[in-house]
Amino acid sequence: MKTPHIALVFSFALLLSGPRQLLASEPTAMKRVSLVFDDGPVVDQTDRMLAILAKENIHVNFCYIGKNVDAHPELARHALAAGHELNDHSYTHPHLKTLSDAEVHAEIQKCFSAIEHTTGKKPGWFWAPFLESDARIEAQANEVGLSHFPYQKYHFISTDDWNTKVTTGAMIHQRATTGITDRTVILCHEWVPDTLAQLPGIIAELKKQGCVFVTFSELAHGAP
Ligand SMILES: [Zn+2]
Repeated sequence: MKTPHIALVFSFALLLSGPRQLLASEPTAMKRVSLVFDDGPVVDQTDRMLAILAKENIHVNFCYIGKNVDAHPELARHALAAGHELNDHSYTHPHLKTLSDAEVHAEIQKCFSAIEHTTGKKPGWFWAPFLESDARIEAQANEVGLSHFPYQKYHFISTDDWNTKVTTGAMIHQRATTGITDRTVILCHEWVPDTLAQLPGIIAELKKQGCVFVTFSELAHGAP
C-alpha cells in the first residue's frame, strides 16, 4: 500500500506546484541559446541591434553576406568590436546547389576575404544561404578553411521571420521563446524590422527562462 500512496501524494503535489515551480526545480537549469542573425550587415538595423545586445550584455552570431560587408564595412567592424561571432554566409546569397564547384568555392572565398579584410579576423563558420548544404558544398567550405556550423546537432528553431508577408512580430516572439532546451540555436534575420522590434522582449523572456547566450564557437566547444 505504501508505494501507491506515495505516488498519489506526489501526483497531487505536481498538480499543485504548476509548471513554473517544476521548471525552476529542474536539475539542468542552464540553457545555452545561440541566436543567429543572417544576411547583414544592414544599414539602420545593425547598430540598433548591437545597442540592444550590448545593453543586455550578450553575444550572438552574425552570418554575413560578403557583398553587404563590402558595402558597409564599418557595420561589420562594429559587430566584431562588440564581441559577436561573424560567419560566412556566401558573397551573393545564391542557391549553392545550383552552382559548379568553382562557383561555390568563389562564393565562400569572397565572403571569407571580405570579412577578414574588413575586420582583421577570419569568419568562424560557414553558414549556407537557405541552409542548403551538402557534402560537395561542405568540401568547398573546407577548402576555404571553414566548416558548416552543424546546427543539426542542436535543437534548431527557425523563427521564419524572413517570411514577412506571413510572420508577425508576435509569431517571431513566440517561436523564439517556446520549447527552449539547453543547446538551442534560434535563427532570425538581421534585415527584418519586426525582429529588431521584438528583440528586447525575446531576450527578456529567454533570460527569465534561465537562458545564457553563446556564440556558435562557444556552443561547439562547450563554453561557458
Ligand atoms: Zn540568408
